[in-house]
Amino acid sequence: MKVFTKCPHCTSEYAEKTLCDTRAELAKEKGNSFQVNCNSCGKSFKVHVNDLRARKSGAAGLAAIIIFAISVPFAGYMIWTIGMGIFAYISITGVLLAPSVAFVLINKQEQVRVSSFNRLTVKR
Ligand SMILES: [Zn+2]
Repeated sequence: MKVFTKCPHCTSEYAEKTLCDTRAELAKEKGNSFQVNCNSCGKSFKVHVNDLRARKSGAAGLAAIIIFAISVPFAGYMIWTIGMGIFAYISITGVLLAPSVAFVLINKQEQVRVSSFNRLTVKR
């Protein structure tokens, strides 16, 4: 998951990756306000956790691509060694199904984290 805010110096978007699920968790780790360095202008500014908004990081799509890339040669090997048969069809189905299932599950989990992060604020 990624959290975003606007840089007060150049108004470009500042993004940071976080493993925290909520603002309270992030505040516990870094404090209610903390210093960050803008990626575009390089100036540092103070950001309050309530001013950060979470967005999905695209991890679901990446995981699906990786699983697909790993499973294609595996299915190819299965078909090459045992020929077209029931097991080959099962492997092909697996190759198509596994990345889709992973995408849906990771995407959903991230959606839940993003919305819970954005819903809950900490006391200023
Ligand atoms: Zn800036």
